Amino acid sequence: MDANSITDTFHRPLRDLRISVTDRCNFRCVYCMPREIFGRDYVFMPREQLLTFEEITRLASIAVAHGVLKIRLTGGEPLLRKDIEGLVRMLARLRTPDGRVPDLAMTTNGTVLAQKAQFLKDAGLKRVTVSLDSVREETFQAMNDVGYPVAKVLHAVEVAQAAGLGPVKINMVVKRGKNDQDIVAMASHFKGTGLILRFIEYMDVGASNGWKMDEVVPSDEVLARIGAVFPLEPAAPNYPGETSERWRYRDGSGEIGVISSVTQAFCRGCTRARLSADGKLFTCLFATAGTDLRALLRAGASDAELSGALSALWGGRADRYSALRSADTPEGTVTREGTVTPEATVAAHKIEMSYIGG
Ligand code: SAM
Ligand code: SF4
Ligand code: SF4
Repeated sequence: MDANSITDTFHRPLRDLRISVTDRCNFRCVYCMPREIFGRDYVFMPREQLLTFEEITRLASIAVAHGVLKIRLTGGEPLLRKDIEGLVRMLARLRTPDGRVPDLAMTTNGTVLAQKAQFLKDAGLKRVTVSLDSVREETFQAMNDVGYPVAKVLHAVEVAQAAGLGPVKINMVVKRGKNDQDIVAMASHFKGTGLILRFIEYMDVGASNGWKMDEVVPSDEVLARIGAVFPLEPAAPNYPGETSERWRYRDGSGEIGVISSVTQAFCRGCTRARLSADGKLFTCLFATAGTDLRALLRAGASDAELSGALSALWGGRADRYSALRSADTPEGTVTREGTVTPEATVAAHKIEMSYIGG
């Protein structure tokens, strides 16, 4: 480990930074921004509360100086942030203390990607992950809940791939009773295309999606359903601690991934911090509070002071929510500190995925 790296109380280094650039989105995915809650009256962050591109880049540069090797832009829908390619250009100039270029990626719903792909590539974005919860029209439109068609997302994926933002990864969040009937259809659609389809277990992030354990389709079940039609074999991870478990088709027609965030917690290897659009740093997806770095920035903190704040925050990190949750009841009633509570009291304080950045 290099001299500038920082580690938390479980000796996990800080390696990944997810940056949410907006809390707004043009979809209302049922598992993320259900329209009953994110309706007409929902108050999103006012513009002046958002970190500016300069502020984001300054914080990212300090994180990179402390060991971050991967940066991912997310949200909300990151491509809704005006001139997002301008931010990409600024982040693409960052270098690690030993001169390496950090990986720079984005997760998007694909709605604005066809227009933006070439600009993003030219600005220095390396890869995109596109969320797509079904290739069946009816299911997908019910999942995004704004009637957005599958074909437009598939077209955006093609454009992104052609622009050199690939191999594009496709994320499917599986929710039982909503889109699990399309698991094999999704596998079949992307098999042999060179695109990497990944199945994500529906997580209990936030408090608005009404998460229930019986709506989670365990990765083992996803693999069994696909494997029954297209035989699979395990593939070695690309790097130690990879969150997605790789499986390849035995006929050589590509690979898929499963992300078992609920049934097989990967807290032990979790090296990820999240920066919300208004500048709060979260050390866990399930954190109930973040540290306000925007306040420090706007109070005129020096780089040394910001570095100190980041080191102190990561140094004191003890998060392992998912690991504790899987040791608990299916409803997941574990506080950040690890205390198992009898009621789901913490759920009320959990931060929404669209705010913290998925
Ligand atoms: N809007 C962009 C998108 O959908 O790709 C980026 C933000 S979104 C919050 C990032 C990822 O989180 C998406 O792949 C989405 O499917 C996933 N996600 C959102 N809520 C989730 C949940 N409750 N469980 C698992 N994944 C979730
Ligand atoms: Fe928007 Fe992404 Fe959340 Fe869907 S998952 S509502 S596209 S932020
Ligand atoms: Fe990391 Fe928190 Fe998720 Fe565990 S629950 S893998 S610590 S973000």
